[in-house]
Amino acid sequence: MNNQFLLNNLRCIPDWPIKGVNFRDVTTLFKSAECIRIITDELYDLYKDKGITKIVGIESRGFVMSSAAAIRLGAGIVLCRKPGKLPCETIQMSYAKEYGIDTIEIHKDSITEDDVILLHDDLLATGGTMKAACDLVRKFHPKKVYCNFIIELQSEFPNARDIFDDDIEVTSLL
Ligand code: IMP
Repeated sequence: MNNQFLLNNLRCIPDWPIKGVNFRDVTTLFKSAECIRIITDELYDLYKDKGITKIVGIESRGFVMSSAAAIRLGAGIVLCRKPGKLPCETIQMSYAKEYGIDTIEIHKDSITEDDVILLHDDLLATGGTMKAACDLVRKFHPKKVYCNFIIELQSEFPNARDIFDDDIEVTSLL
């Protein structure tokens, strides 16, 4: 019921940004107060008993619901950004994309070994972005790492979850 409401509010844009890609535009979820409420409630229900201390949001659409979930879960927020946007010392991770190499980074003082981390992004396709973010977070040796997406493109990328280490619990809402 809730998921159908979210799906009804999700805009899909064929052939964007390039021909052949059916882009799921989550901004249509973010502009709806009811969608925000549903996503926040679902994230709270999924993670309320996990002892999450920090949510790592992936730039940029991952920042939005990380904020709402952090408030509900009583967690802090860490920004995982593209290079050159964070002002202090960072730790980086590079990963292969379809065309070339991408790099992400987070502040060196943002995670400790006492943290329980929830990584959040809007969408899981191949898994390359989130896998790099997981590997980056693991450099800090947190107690536990969870991963969540609003959308998982299971029919298009059926093996995406296989990329993650077995001890990382992955969930998606849609
Ligand atoms: P992956 O690394 O192949 O799993 O791609 C996921 C990353 O690309 C995420 O950071 C998404 O924000 C972005 N992405 C890929 N496809 C879409 C889409 O259809 N809608 C929104 N974001 C997308």
